[in-house]
Amino acid sequence: MTDTLTSLPGSGEVAQRRLLQTPVPGPRSTELHAARGHEVARGFGTTLPVFVERAEGAILVDVDGNQLIDLASGIAVTSVGASHPRVAAAVAEQAARFTHTCFMVTEYEGFVDVARALNRLTPGDHEKRTALYTTGAEAVENAVKIARAATGRPAVVVLDHAYHGRTLMTMSMTAKHLPYKAGFGPFAPEVHRAPSAYPYRWPGGPERCAEEALARLEELVMTQIGAENVAAIVAEPVQGEGGFIVPAPGFLPGVARFAREHGIVFVADEIQTGFGRTGAMFASEHEGLVPDLVTSAKALGAGLPLSAVTGRAELMGAVDPGGLGGTYAGNPVACAAALAAIAVIEEEGLVDRARAIGARALPRLQRLAEDSPAVGEARGRGAMLALELVRPGTTEPDPAAARAVAAHCHAEGVLVLVCGTFGNVIRLLPPLVIEAELLDDALDVLEHGVRELAWSTS
Ligand SMILES: *Cc1c(COP(=O)(O)O)cnc(C)c1O
Repeated sequence: MTDTLTSLPGSGEVAQRRLLQTPVPGPRSTELHAARGHEVARGFGTTLPVFVERAEGAILVDVDGNQLIDLASGIAVTSVGASHPRVAAAVAEQAARFTHTCFMVTEYEGFVDVARALNRLTPGDHEKRTALYTTGAEAVENAVKIARAATGRPAVVVLDHAYHGRTLMTMSMTAKHLPYKAGFGPFAPEVHRAPSAYPYRWPGGPERCAEEALARLEELVMTQIGAENVAAIVAEPVQGEGGFIVPAPGFLPGVARFAREHGIVFVADEIQTGFGRTGAMFASEHEGLVPDLVTSAKALGAGLPLSAVTGRAELMGAVDPGGLGGTYAGNPVACAAALAAIAVIEEEGLVDRARAIGARALPRLQRLAEDSPAVGEARGRGAMLALELVRPGTTEPDPAAARAVAAHCHAEGVLVLVCGTFGNVIRLLPPLVIEAELLDDALDVLEHGVRELAWSTS
């Protein structure tokens, strides 16, 4: 295991350090952001209104010449770092040969190679098949289609705090009303929601969480839906947008067992957790889970749009030719990027590196949680880390505190994201290539932001 986060080969054009030349956002970004308002639909939110000019490794360079530390990775996408030279070269090489044929029209090897890699890397050594798509939501949609075709059943069970996407079916599966669902109904039918095993907020306490959450899910299926009507149970092995919730140990294995006993397809949505992020190639591995279907996207294409459903050959085979696909599904340039990204993850030891990032950062975040009454909990796995902010002395969510800490980090040149059903979780998703010094610098800024907040509210 790599316990020192040393520098890795990059193109070396952008120094891996934080540098502020203007306030953040600077004048040029502010001007561009104002112009954007006249052209772009308002519905696209912005975490930090800074326009990026280039990016490398864990540094984003904005149009005002500021160098920001990237603890977002474009939402867990650029795990191999921004513009990794091997990914950039593979994309350029493929784009020069051909950019598109549509795999349903004429075939190309990259599609098959990515499928082979995913069949090898996803949990379990059973026979698998893979279908490639473009976005994460599309992968989840197709996992549901495949599960329905294979079982002949309609219902889908999802969890509280779930995030599965923004299309009609996946929005229906997503838990949070604002901003994802408000005004967009009616929703897709046959989506049922069970409690999530969220240890920090479980009414009976964290020790009873796994057992009680599992009992509630089983009761929902047996008494309200009927197991014979359930096609799939879909769960994120660590919940992402919902608040970086690491489920109580034993909950997901219990869900998987229950699903197997009732002929229900167990789908792990690994779109945010996959490809090393949590310190395992797939987060299901932490609990020895072997899902029937796995959805992946985000880090798979290292920034090029690519997603996948990988699963048991007999389930994947339930759909006849023509039933699955998409014009851009498994685009050749995106496949070239994915093959390069997977090679980087494996050859540069990025799974170990994610563990090393967690080992370096989590104890620090946990100390911060002990010292600061505004931090209810520090949690995470590998390089998927979070601080949940609460009103001091309570477990009441404090979204204003999360916004204040994020604003402090942004002003100091550290890009962090806020998430959670209650909007009170600061989440960290550094590129897995981040160097120790840069990570420490970013954590210093974050820690300072939290401590300042504690003073300002006490
Ligand atoms: C981001 C995400 C999705 C949706 O992916 P898109 O590419 O944005 O459609 C689905 N599930 C999870 C767990 C995600 O994190």
